[in-house]
Amino acid sequence: MPFASLGLSEPLQAAVAEQGFTAPTPVQTAAIPAVLRGGDVWACAQTGSGKTAAYVLPLLQVLSTAPSRAPRPLRTLVLVPTRELATQVGDTVKAFARGLPTRVKVVVAVGGLSINPQMLALRGGTDVLVATPGRLLDLVDKNAVHLSAVQHLVLDEADRLLSLGFADELTRMLGLLPERRQNLLFSATFPPAVRSLAQHLLHAPTRIALEPGTLLHQDVVAQRVIEVDVGKRTQLLRHLLQEHGWTRVLVFVASRYGADHVAGKLEKAGLAVARLHGDLSQGARVAALADFEASRVQVLVATDVAARGLDIAQLPVVVNYDLPRSADDYLHRIGRTGRAGQSGLAVSFVSADTAAHFRLIEKRHRLSLVREHIAGFEPVELDVPFGDPYGGQKGKRPNKKDKLRLANAGG
Ligand code: AMP
Repeated sequence: MPFASLGLSEPLQAAVAEQGFTAPTPVQTAAIPAVLRGGDVWACAQTGSGKTAAYVLPLLQVLSTAPSRAPRPLRTLVLVPTRELATQVGDTVKAFARGLPTRVKVVVAVGGLSINPQMLALRGGTDVLVATPGRLLDLVDKNAVHLSAVQHLVLDEADRLLSLGFADELTRMLGLLPERRQNLLFSATFPPAVRSLAQHLLHAPTRIALEPGTLLHQDVVAQRVIEVDVGKRTQLLRHLLQEHGWTRVLVFVASRYGADHVAGKLEKAGLAVARLHGDLSQGARVAALADFEASRVQVLVATDVAARGLDIAQLPVVVNYDLPRSADDYLHRIGRTGRAGQSGLAVSFVSADTAAHFRLIEKRHRLSLVREHIAGFEPVELDVPFGDPYGGQKGKRPNKKDKLRLANAGG
């Protein structure tokens, strides 16, 4: 189906073509006409599905058909969980708005950066504001922005907004919005908190839904699971990089400490590596991303928080060096690859102490993935303490460590 049949104006169709999009993605096919009709939308869509354009295109169309006044009243508010996602959404709005006959102004406002330039940018108002919740409220408190004229509200990555603890900010913000408005809620997953937010927020929404927790990406992202002992993971990663000649790999670790540790070891082995974690300054994060995007570094070692919402073009491989804490994070991580129909690969390292956790992730997403062993990296640690008559894994014999553990346990 071409974009033309979705009801988009010619300038927007041209803007889409300029981006190189030939056909809409499923979420765009469903969401664009629904947003144009003006009703609420509840969409299950993750990063990589084309969700940003799915709401940006129709909202721009609506904005451009009702030209703004001066000062521009804020009509479209997009809330996102992270600075990186805010920047990406802002860039998408700007790219699509460029060819419109009427100027649409967009401002991006995020925490962690000086508020003054953002206040300055908001002088004279703006048509579209893309913001993180905390900073939005700071700007409201400083009278830099008013929410009383908002006609369209987008909550992007609503599950992230809530899991990052923005529930109070959302409640306060919703209280400042006019009653009559269009609400669009996009979320990769629908845990109870998101469901109750959706029920509270949305009126007779068009539901664009897959089964909750269903992986949109299963078909485009190949998922490999490699069993390996904890202490062998860095060596295995180096082996895989070499063997497959991967040029750009996003490696997920559990903590800032882990990021420095793994990155340090890879650097020692002569690889070009960048780090992305929450303790870095915004400048350092932007530089790390730029180095990775420009292929100046081969490996980007990142934590979940830092990588959330990232849209890195042509990212073929994601490695779960440490497993994600939640099943939702697994989805978000592997959603970094295989964007908009390109194929991608997600590799998870599973070791004795994380085997049970990974089984839960699989169960949650109804996956049943084959465990691989790589020659030279076969695990020797068991995932269930030896001596458990109901546990143990076939084909695995206790090693010295297991025997010691067993002896200590008195078994
Ligand atoms: P998103 O899910 O919004 O983060 O988009 C993921 C990526 O897909 C972005 O790099 C978009 O530029 C790209 N994209 C979005 N829609 C399309 C489309 N219809 N055809 C090709 N690429 C797209």
